[in-house]
Amino acid sequence: MNTKELDNRFVAPTYARYPVEIISGKGALLRGADGKDYIDLGSGIAVNIFGMCDDEWKNAVQEQLDNFQHVSNLYYSSPCANLAKLLCEKTGMKKVFFANSGAEANECAIKAARRVSFLKHGDESHSTIITLKNSFHGRTIATLTATGQDSFHKEFGPFLDGFVYAEANNLDDIKTLAENNNAAAVMVEVIQGEGGVKALDRDFVIGIEKLCREKDMLFIVDEVQSGNGRSGMLYAYMNYGVKPDIVTTAKGLGGGLPIGATLLGERAENAFGYGSHGSTFGGNPISCAGGLNILSRIDDKLLDAVKSKSAYIFNTLNGAKGVKSVSGMGLMIGLEIEKDAKEVVAECINRGVLMLTAKDRIRLLPPLNIPDDLLKSAINILKEVLAQ
Ligand SMILES: *Cc1c(COP(=O)(O)O)cnc(C)c1O
Repeated sequence: MNTKELDNRFVAPTYARYPVEIISGKGALLRGADGKDYIDLGSGIAVNIFGMCDDEWKNAVQEQLDNFQHVSNLYYSSPCANLAKLLCEKTGMKKVFFANSGAEANECAIKAARRVSFLKHGDESHSTIITLKNSFHGRTIATLTATGQDSFHKEFGPFLDGFVYAEANNLDDIKTLAENNNAAAVMVEVIQGEGGVKALDRDFVIGIEKLCREKDMLFIVDEVQSGNGRSGMLYAYMNYGVKPDIVTTAKGLGGGLPIGATLLGERAENAFGYGSHGSTFGGNPISCAGGLNILSRIDDKLLDAVKSKSAYIFNTLNGAKGVKSVSGMGLMIGLEIEKDAKEVVAECINRGVLMLTAKDRIRLLPPLNIPDDLLKSAINILKEVLAQ
């Protein structure tokens, strides 16, 4: 059996895969088993932010692999400690908990908010988390419950108590929910990714921060997809000039290795004590060595390049034939289009460009360092397909 046949026979069928098998790649070019090269506008869903097999990242990972691969969290290890330090230095946060995925990073944020509230009140009276409709926070039961889309709240029940959902960009809705529910925290993606790549309004995000201070709630920002340079700033909340109490991130942080991080600010840094939370693989030395390399290279020069590549995409596709609107920020871009998004993606694959969808939109998440000529070729192909 070939790979496709093996996969169809033995892998749980949770993914509707495109008919492409990737066998190798370099930067923003991926090689298919069909012998074709594909320009990558998806980065493995915002993961490979320096593209495929980036040399510097690979060296950092291989060096750690030569030292040791895992020690458990019973012992100290340098990649984990140094990545936590760099995350705190670059954000002003105080402590980091490491996990292995976005969902786990969000689980940790939810637990942290509830424990901070418990320590303050001595009971579970203020445990509700307010999230937004159309949000996406993960696939575990708690993060599915946090995900504010009814379609996710079916067939796997019972779901959890203590989550309520506000309308995006409606501060009054959050205010009312906070008052009626003794809420512990508000959790948002400032750019809703899976929900269609929609950036929240500036006043709304600033309003949430203010409301959280007034009502003694924690402000949690899920940067699993939008983080690590993708928005044109290190974390997307930085575009809004706010300071969350808890930030979660994952996807791009490891440059292709599984990692999740929950950053705890001043109001949440004492959420956990010994034994109150943990993860066997969390802080894995290989993932953290990869993350340390990635994070240390997200500098102003890279972010400026992200902004100019972003401007190029917005300018080229805004008003183009078949495009209704362009949304998002940096290299996290959504296209509302006239055609069916899945059909457009399939046709682009035929023509050698890989991209994603989010709801009924096209979603573009190219590597942050995609060369301008490749980006241009890929956007031209997309433009042609959209115009047909
Ligand atoms: C992808 C994503 C998650 C879930 O991350 P996993 O690593 O798949 O668990 C959570 N939140 C947001 C905003 C995401 O985009």
